[in-house]
Amino acid sequence: MKPLFPFTYAKLKAQYREALNQEYAVIRCCDYVNLKRNGLPPKTLVNRVDIDFSVKKAGQLGQLFNDLGIKATFFVRLHAPEYNPFSFENYRIIKALIQSGHEIGYHSEILDQAAIWAEDAAACLQRDIDVINKMFGIRIRGVASHRGMTGLNNLDFWKDKTPADFDLLYEGYDKQPAFNLFQEAFYVSDSEWTQWKCYNKGTLVAGNTQRLGDHVKDGHALLYLLIHPDTYFERHFYEDEGG
Ligand SMILES: [Zn+2]
Repeated sequence: MKPLFPFTYAKLKAQYREALNQEYAVIRCCDYVNLKRNGLPPKTLVNRVDIDFSVKKAGQLGQLFNDLGIKATFFVRLHAPEYNPFSFENYRIIKALIQSGHEIGYHSEILDQAAIWAEDAAACLQRDIDVINKMFGIRIRGVASHRGMTGLNNLDFWKDKTPADFDLLYEGYDKQPAFNLFQEAFYVSDSEWTQWKCYNKGTLVAGNTQRLGDHVKDGHALLYLLIHPDTYFERHFYEDEGG
């Protein structure tokens, strides 16, 4: 029988511990670009967090990473109906993530905003990058495309553009040799909310719902982990009541 409620913070923390016990170097996406050029550790786990809905939960993940002494890249949305990254609490949390040494990237919805606002997509992206940089006093190095409910795939924006066009190092799924992480790694994601899924060098491993903690025992030299704060909870999924 499947264990009940596998996506608690405590169980996630235990799996990162297993990765550390297996001697994985847990790194940010920007570190991957640098280390790919200069030599990757024998076992590397690229630690990516897409903040789809909850900055508050992202803050809890940040604390979890700080407890373990590891870093992550958090991708932040700017136009989400679900959160305002510049609200009193969310700005405070994101600033704390930055101060703890985590990387902030932009979780972009470029084609969505271009379509909804009838504006130029590239201009939207450049403005968004400038806004994040100005607001947090940083220089972001990467974007990752969010897939929402418009039916548009924001990744399509990159078909005829490169991150360097925007003074960036990478896009989360880009295939330029300097990154090309999804194609070269064993990719593990919680994006199905109640179970894990994985891709081996870009190909879905159908039916494989093994946990991160299982995959780290398989000794893949390069793991690309994507998690979403919204997936995790202390006791159960419905513990955050609105109102
Ligand atoms: Zn997303």
